[in-house]
Amino acid sequence: MKEKLKEFFGNIEKVRGFRAPGRVNLIGEHTDYHLGYVLPCAINKYFYFYLKENKTKKIRIYSENFSQSFEFSIDKIEYNNDYPWTNYLQGVLKEIKEKVGDIPGFDGYISSEIPIGAGLSSSAAYEISVSYGLKEYFQLPLNLIDIVKLSQRAENEFVGARCGIMDQFISAFGKKDYALLLDTRSLEYEYIPFDIKSKDLELVIVDTKVKHSIAGEGYSKRREEGEKALEILKNYLPINSLRDLDEEGFILSQKVLPDPLKRRVEHVYKENIRVLNFVDALKENKWEELDKYMVESHNSLRYLYEVTCEELDFLFEKAHEFYAFTSRMTGGGFGGSTINLVPSKMLNLWCQKIKESYKLRFGFPPDILILEVADGVGEIEL
Ligand code: ADP
Ligand code: MG
Repeated sequence: MKEKLKEFFGNIEKVRGFRAPGRVNLIGEHTDYHLGYVLPCAINKYFYFYLKENKTKKIRIYSENFSQSFEFSIDKIEYNNDYPWTNYLQGVLKEIKEKVGDIPGFDGYISSEIPIGAGLSSSAAYEISVSYGLKEYFQLPLNLIDIVKLSQRAENEFVGARCGIMDQFISAFGKKDYALLLDTRSLEYEYIPFDIKSKDLELVIVDTKVKHSIAGEGYSKRREEGEKALEILKNYLPINSLRDLDEEGFILSQKVLPDPLKRRVEHVYKENIRVLNFVDALKENKWEELDKYMVESHNSLRYLYEVTCEELDFLFEKAHEFYAFTSRMTGGGFGGSTINLVPSKMLNLWCQKIKESYKLRFGFPPDILILEVADGVGEIEL
């Protein structure tokens, strides 16, 4: 890496490097934009951001993965259609400028180990590595929560992707061997012990490698359905989000909402409860209960929220058939990945069987990643 940095920066004195992790969500899917509970953990696949002040008003950025560079003036931040990957950086800069004023120009080098679009949130890791790196380098008066919020705003408003806050939050706040219970309404959070090695388990992500063309559309549609359901329910109940539904409100929702809205609400209501039950099981060291909640979550995403697909359902079923400790789809759905906990001693055989059976069915093998639960954003030694 040092050689590459030398080539790009000339000399690497004054260059500093930062990295932010991708994430997987253990449970609590499609709940964050309804201000519910989520339980993600950070993973040891990182997005790296190296920078050095350049004493001009220009920002010169290079993406190793895309082999492209791009230059723009700090005074001229504009959405770019030809270099879409620069918009995450530009969005973050715009937010930083609005919050703390102008910052100096710099040269930046980015590179990432997080597969794009696999549901591991390369975009949030990108935003967090950049916003955190800039804060540290230029000693900006921002705290970690500011970083999280402005990164989410950059993605929502500048990039135009309507993500919730989970991805940015865990990329910033992740902690090795812990999952993070986040209440996306209050932003209160709690670290929950999740030391898989002590249970002789491996964290395995199986990527379907499909993104159904309706993916973006499907996600927006679910968000719209959620808004519609909320609007109707507001006629009956004093609520501001689906998260605010209590048991009585939920029962009422099932009477007054048409299908499929009532099924969408059922998923959100029960998924929130499942997150808390899952957390209790972890805290009480009752890992044998975890699979029950994971299976319920997957089935709810399949039949009530309707965001799985043939490939995800196949992997979920095969995972259990081949004796995974637990498995379910993770991320937004319509393709993407499953999360699996697999007993260490059968890891190789399990992966082989999953690969073979998937290939037999769909004609190509899935990608398999074996991960560790990692810390959130930080600086790295060069
Ligand atoms: P994900 O689920 O991985 O977050 P998104 O579509 O939200 O998928 O974000 C992926 C986008 O983030 C890419 O299309 C690209 O614009 C940007 N991105 C990810 N990795 C890199 C990288 N190494 N260099 C430049 N841009 C990247
Ligand atoms: Mg993303």
